[in-house]
Amino acid sequence: MKARHVLILFSVLFTCTVHLHAQTPAPVAVEVAPVANPEQTPAIKNYCEKLEKSFKRFGWEKSQCETFKWNHYRNSVLGDPLMWTVFGDVSDEELPSFKDKDVTIVMCGVHGDEITPVKFCFDLMYYLRDAYADPEKVKGEFHNKVVLVSPLVNPDSYFKARPTRVNARGIDPNRNFPTKDWQLEARQIWLKKFRRDKRRNPGMKANSEPEVVFQVNLIKRYNPDKIVSVHSPLTLLDYDGPSVATTNGMDGVKAHELLIQMSKDASGYNIKDYPFFPGSLGNWAGKERNIPTYTLELPSSDPRKNPEYWTLFKSALHKLIVHNLRQNIAKAPVPDEVGKPNAPTSGNSPASPN
Ligand SMILES: [Zn+2]
Repeated sequence: MKARHVLILFSVLFTCTVHLHAQTPAPVAVEVAPVANPEQTPAIKNYCEKLEKSFKRFGWEKSQCETFKWNHYRNSVLGDPLMWTVFGDVSDEELPSFKDKDVTIVMCGVHGDEITPVKFCFDLMYYLRDAYADPEKVKGEFHNKVVLVSPLVNPDSYFKARPTRVNARGIDPNRNFPTKDWQLEARQIWLKKFRRDKRRNPGMKANSEPEVVFQVNLIKRYNPDKIVSVHSPLTLLDYDGPSVATTNGMDGVKAHELLIQMSKDASGYNIKDYPFFPGSLGNWAGKERNIPTYTLELPSSDPRKNPEYWTLFKSALHKLIVHNLRQNIAKAPVPDEVGKPNAPTSGNSPASPN
């Protein structure tokens, strides 16, 4: 009898165990958080730590700076890396096929005291990372699209306890581009019209600042179809570039239509034709080189407003990236007036091009 009882008990236990196993749900896919990039150099690691502190200070979520793959060849005046990250395929950068790609450069943090643009660029980077991880999107609307994002062009000023507009040498990185009118007018206008305003010092020589050389070389290297520079707090969208349909292979009419579309997408955001200044990006890239250049001035530099700003402009930025402004003719290369090569080179020498 005893033996039969034991047998029955085992039989019941076995049945229960089988039943329990049959009821165990399939394992749920766990979302894997992006991990730190193993190729991070000590300079980038140090930079990301500083950036993380600033994000905390401004009440933002974690930057995830260390999870992006950064390109770095050049340093700021105080030695911080001037970097950009790439979305899309640039492996054919030196081949003719790269000319068919629709390239957008987005730059933020040109003026270090304009806080909101820095986070805005990171919000764009999170968005693009998700988009480029989706094979359907890469085959679809992001096909042949390359986006380069430099979220902090002027780190020296942004990292100060009291951030400033100008760089560590007191020079405005948006008045030092080597425009044709720089030599004759930049200092004249600064001395007379702006009465030596310390916030708008163009420097003693055009293209003298590493933060400007960085932007110039980034544009020369990738010869973009369009550029976006994000600032604050003037609450406007400005366009510099071709206005007719035939310049430099870029369609100025399409570029204007895109401007209007971007404004509509951002609840009718104010479009304003802001004047050119000697040494400004809009002047150098938009006016002189006919690269459609959009300046987005966010409404404020208040870091608490960032979620609101990203929601407002997300669709506009998406449209800008996927919208092809090119006509069916090849783009002309960016003229190389300062004699520096465009081609990528390896190494971290400050003298090497971006
Ligand atoms: Zn600015």
